[in-house]
Amino acid sequence: MSYAGKNLKYLRKLRGWTQEEFANKLKIKRSLVGAYEEERAEPRIEILEEIGSIFKLSLDELLQKLVALGLKEYQRVKPVAAPRLDSKAQTKRVMWERDQRRCTNCGSYFAVQEDHKHPKAWGGQYSLNNMRLLCRSCNQRAAIKHFGAKKMDQHLNS
Ligand SMILES: [Zn+2]
Repeated sequence: MSYAGKNLKYLRKLRGWTQEEFANKLKIKRSLVGAYEEERAEPRIEILEEIGSIFKLSLDELLQKLVALGLKEYQRVKPVAAPRLDSKAQTKRVMWERDQRRCTNCGSYFAVQEDHKHPKAWGGQYSLNNMRLLCRSCNQRAAIKHFGAKKMDQHLNS
């Protein structure tokens, strides 16, 4: 749902409104309009409805318009290859999204932790390929497999 930001800005500018004016019409803070336009936040459905009524469009029409603008934008720029992950924070964000914030082994949402498939201690990288989410108990089992039960016993019992 990242079609909203730039296209909202485009629609707003078509009317010649400042962020402040647009925010006042929506009865929200200017900083929130800024957040939508920079795609740091997505407008909630009620806000979208309000935006639609300001532009005299039904919610459907508004969404169609935003999507159509998004498509135009998309066709103009060359398709982007897989996003470059140049920071650990980015890798982290993408990885948590990919694994849907739950254990990749048992699907549990409880006590989910990051796990290096190839252990960090043995040179495993913090990369999308090497990282996955595991819940605490699956993580402990994986660690036991890697390091041997004896060594883990010391950690678990200490
Ligand atoms: Zn699990």
